[in-house]
Amino acid sequence: MSGQIIDGKRISDTIREEIKRETAELAARGIRPGLAVVLVGEDPASQVYVRNKAKACEDLGFYSEVHRLPADTSQENLLALIGRLNEQTGINGILVQLPLPKHIDEKAVIDAISVDKDVDGFHPVSVGNLTIGDDSLLPCTPAGVIELLKRTGNSPAGKHAVVIGRSNIVGKPVSLLLLRENATVTIAHSRTPDLPALARQADILVAAVGVPKLVKKDWVKPGAVVIDVGINRLETGKLCGDVDFDDVAQAAGWITPVPGGVGPMTITMLMSNTLKAAKRAHGIG
Ligand code: NDP
Repeated sequence: MSGQIIDGKRISDTIREEIKRETAELAARGIRPGLAVVLVGEDPASQVYVRNKAKACEDLGFYSEVHRLPADTSQENLLALIGRLNEQTGINGILVQLPLPKHIDEKAVIDAISVDKDVDGFHPVSVGNLTIGDDSLLPCTPAGVIELLKRTGNSPAGKHAVVIGRSNIVGKPVSLLLLRENATVTIAHSRTPDLPALARQADILVAAVGVPKLVKKDWVKPGAVVIDVGINRLETGKLCGDVDFDDVAQAAGWITPVPGGVGPMTITMLMSNTLKAAKRAHGIG
């Protein structure tokens, strides 16, 4: 193994300490960031995510409320709840846990969230602002990827970044953020020919695919930074990324493990967005 490990847990802990300090300063001014999390149905993974978000709020001194709705909740009722949360002072961020049950139009729900409270960064106006380079609440996992790079001294500026994956929640926004950080960005996907040859050109290789251990050592330029966004559960129950860690670590200069790389950053960036939204709501920052 030659690559240095990018320790997402440690970096995430550092950012949470920074958020905690700022939250304490806001508390002295009578301001407390507030997050509302909405969960429809009983998907076990979603329940864990929601619990972790509420716990993170508690640890940081945020106010939080969790709205648990039955799986057969109508779209109308869900939209009515979002309407109330949009108006509720004390709630700075609204997160609707995805995926939603099939009878609910996910897009209609995301569109209904006030842009100012869109801490997931999925609202079309937030996406548009990201695209044109205006200030906006950034999608959490992609923002976490950029923090990992910057906080390990791996500035994207002037680098060739290859992003494998073009989803709206990871591949596209992470590409836009890398571009904003002055990387030269290539986006690859399932129709990209000779992906290994393309990946080998990357100074920064981001894998957001959902295929366990797809990226091998011979896909990686020696010394490249490899960021693995993938979270895949193997038949053994173990988690693994889209990168064959043990193999690729022999070539990479820097590499994120799974778990313990990008994963811990997602909730931390959600907290960071909630803090930012709270500050904005009070005309700070
Ligand atoms: P999607 O399934 O929405 O997108 C996957 C992308 O990978 C698509 O653009 C697809 O191409 C591309 N792709 C699929 N197979 C191949 C292949 N063999 N070669 C090249 N490209 C391929 O996934 P997400 O973006 O939502 O998630 C990606 C991974 O990241 C998943 O493992 C997910 O669990 C994880 N994830 C982790 C998060 C975290 O907090 N760390 C948060 C969100 C996701 P095409 O568009 O052509 O179909």
